[in-house]
Parts: sequence; structure tokens; C-alpha cells
Amino acid sequence: MATTPTPDAVPGRSDPDVLVVGAGVAGLFCAWFLRRAGLSVTVVDRGEVGDPAACSSGNTGFVGTQGAAPLAEPGVPAKGLRWLLHPESPFHVRPRLDRELLTWLWHFRRHCTERQARAGFEVLLDLKQRSLAILREVCAHDELAGTLTARGMLLACKTPEGYAQARATVPAAVTRGVPLRTLDPAELARLQPGVEFAVAGALLNEEGAALHIPAFLVAFARLLRASGVEILTDTEVRGFETVDRLVRTVRTSRGDLRAGEVVLAAGVWSVACARQLGVGLLLQPAKGYAVTVDSGPATPTLPVLLSEGKVAVMPLGDRVRLAGTLELTGLDTTVSPRRVEGIRRTVRSYLPAMDSGGRVRVWSGLRPCTPDSLPLIGRLGSYRNVSVATGHGHIGMGLAPAGGRLLAQLVTGTPPDVPVATFAVDRHRRRAR
Ligand SMILES: Cc1cc2nc3c(=O)[nH]c(=O)nc-3n(C[C@H](O)[C@H](O)[C@H](O)COP(=O)(O)OP(=O)(O)OC[C@H]3O[C@@H](n4cnc5c(N)ncnc54)[C@H](O)[C@@H]3O)c2cc1C
Repeated sequence: MATTPTPDAVPGRSDPDVLVVGAGVAGLFCAWFLRRAGLSVTVVDRGEVGDPAACSSGNTGFVGTQGAAPLAEPGVPAKGLRWLLHPESPFHVRPRLDRELLTWLWHFRRHCTERQARAGFEVLLDLKQRSLAILREVCAHDELAGTLTARGMLLACKTPEGYAQARATVPAAVTRGVPLRTLDPAELARLQPGVEFAVAGALLNEEGAALHIPAFLVAFARLLRASGVEILTDTEVRGFETVDRLVRTVRTSRGDLRAGEVVLAAGVWSVACARQLGVGLLLQPAKGYAVTVDSGPATPTLPVLLSEGKVAVMPLGDRVRLAGTLELTGLDTTVSPRRVEGIRRTVRSYLPAMDSGGRVRVWSGLRPCTPDSLPLIGRLGSYRNVSVATGHGHIGMGLAPAGGRLLAQLVTGTPPDVPVATFAVDRHRRRAR
């Protein structure tokens, strides 16, 4: 009887130095830097590159130096209670007695202080600046032409209070090298003629940039393959065989694989992979929606973040993608029509003439979120050859490039360019002791 050849049954196939689990943005950037360090790399994914199930495949692709705030901020616990009761709110927790969720929420609450939010912002901004530099370099390759747009980005503020708060952040950001400037409604109208904004004002980040999703992911995978990285799709990791704190064999749906090092970069599913190795990760899936509609003449030409409404608007030629909501509802990807309507209503309140509807496509994705909004990058437990690169949360496209470089530095023993302890996989548990 003919059988499907398993990866390890392919004649002449030798074991790679590193096996990366997950071909989302986190896994692909790990592979990029590991390969550049001269290692042989295999990436495995249970789906295709750009598969709709992956969080990297349907998001708005905002990158650059804006929106580096952690989710945990001083006002969030108070707002959270109000949001919990509102079916169209941008934030939702499905109440349930789940130990991992309760532990996560406890740590999240601890980070809702002015001091922690400021510290988190500094770390995220630094990682985003490093990532933008990497993206510019990667997207300069012919294979990725047109997948990065860097024409600036707007933060639109509906209320005078929101605009005043946003304006207050400008001096510190400018000191950190972010080219931000304020725009009153008249200046905004001159910048975006024909677009009706019902706002008190806006900030323009001149180096704001956005990736075209999923085109970027697919083209990046092509570049990786051309550089010698093997990418095995339709290959699900189902378990590990370990000896003396070393992973010897990775069991997959297409046979056993072996590698010197294993990197778990499987987004929210990294938790299940780590659990198979007996290690817990403090990570929660946070569901979000992207609603893609036909764009009309009143669509902004620049990407826009709707500040108070927490919705992102990404123009994509004849279509426009509207993304928002953050729901802690486990691994459930069901779409809530009420929340989708909430996103569209928010957009209409800022851009009354824009969302004409037409062809409407709704996608939901699960962000891998940590309580402090910083990624988990480092060794897993006491395993000598397993590391993790996940937890990039609501800014994975903007953090994964620098995160992948750090991961490669750790694996190759190169001095890291950012403080390793900040991203340590067990940092929350250590600090809670
Ligand atoms: C609505 C929305 C809008 C967003 N907008 C932005 C934005 O504008 N800018 C930004 O920076 N970020 C944004 N994000 C966040 C960003 O999308 C995520 O942080 C990022 O995609 C996470 O990437 P990842 O590689 O960690 O996970 P994923 O992209 O989910 O990749 C994980 C991969 O692992 C594979 N996998 C899982 N389990 C296994 C297994 N057992 N075996 C093999 N393979 C496995 C999956 O198939 C998947 O391909 C947004 C997210 C959402 C939901």
C-alpha cells in the first residue's frame, strides 16, 4: 500500500540545526536570523503560510513607532468593569473559573500602574524601532517589493480630552526620536482632502508604516526558502520525546523530526506545545476582528488609529480593513456580530462618510498576549535545547523582527542587543514570589 512519505523518510534529508514550530510572523523572523547566523533551519506549520487560522494572516499590519503602549494601563481596571457589561465594547473577558486566566488577570492588574505602563512603553518603543529598521532592510528585497508602505500614520482623537492627552505624549516621543506632530482639524483636512473626519484633532507619525497582510508573509516565506530555510506546511507538532532535559524527537502528523534546537513560535498554541513538555506559559489568547469592506472616495489614504475607539483603519487599495476588539474568550474564534457592528459604528463616528459596506469579509484572530504586553523570548524551563518566541500580543508584526533577532542571539550564544531578563519566559512567576 502506498503511504505518504514522512519528512524523516525523505532520502538524503539531514537533521537541521534548528526546528522552528510555527510559520507566523514570530517563527519566520526567528528562522530569518537563525539562517543568517549560518544555521540550517526547518520551520513546521500545521497549516499553510498565511493560513487564516494564524493571527499573522489577517491583521492590519501596523508597524513602526506608534501604538507602543502596553495593554495594562492605569485606567484600564475601572474601564474594564464598564466594558464588561457592554456588548459592543472594545474589551471583553468571558467570566469563567479558569486558573490560568485568573492568574493572568492577577498579573495584568499588577501592571496597571503609571510606573509599569511607562516602563513597558519604553521597552516596546525600543523593540518597535529596532523592528522597523529590520523590516525596512528585509522589505528592500525584490521578493517583498510593495509589501511595506511607509507614508506615515495618523492617530485620530474624537474628543478634546483625548486630543489633549495625545498631545501631551508628543514631547517625550519626539525626544525618543519619534517624528510626531499635532494636526488640528483644518490641518488634517489639508493632509487628507475629501476625507471627512469628525474629530477634535490628530497626531501624525511621519515614519508610521504598515505591512500588507497576508502578502508580506507569503513573500517573506518565499525569500526564506530562497535563502535555504526549509518550510514544511501541513505538518502539525503533536508531541516530543525527551531524554535528560533535551528534546530528541519532535513527533509530527507527518512523521518524526529531529534537530539540535527547538523553538516554539506557535502563537497562542505555544501554550499547548509547552504543556506537552510539562512547562506552563503565562499567555492568553485575545481575540480580535478585522472587517474588510469596499473603500469609497472618503477613505483615508493613510493608515489611521482611532484613539478612544481602539480601532485601526488600514486602506488597501479598493478595500479597507477595520480592526479592533480584544476578547479574552479562550481559543474560541467565533465571530460576534454585535462586536463587529461595534467596530463599524466606531469607524462611522470618526469617519462618517467612509464605511460604505459593499463586500464585507470578517476575520477573527487570536493574539498571543502576556499580562505586561512584552513577548516571551528565551529558554523554556530547564530544557537545554528548547526556547520560546511568542507573546507579541497586539503588536506582533511590529515586535517580531527584533524578537526573532534576540532569539537567534540566544540560540547562537551571541551577545544580545537588548536585555534578556526583560523577556524571560518565567519572569512573571519569579517576580510574584
Ligand atoms: C484584529 C487584529 C489586528 C492586529 N493588528 C496588528 C497590527 O496592526 N500590528 C501588529 O503589530 N500586530 C497586530 N496584531 C497582532 C499580530 O497579528 C500578532 O501579534 C501576531 O500575528 C502573532 O504572530 P505569531 O507568529 O506569534 O502567531 P500566529 O501568526 O498565530 O502563528 C502561529 C503559527 O503556529 C502554527 N501552529 C500552532 N500550533 C502548531 C502545531 N502544534 N504544530 C505546527 N504548527 C502550529 C499555526 O498554524 C500558526 O501558523 C493584530 C491582531 C489581531 C487579532
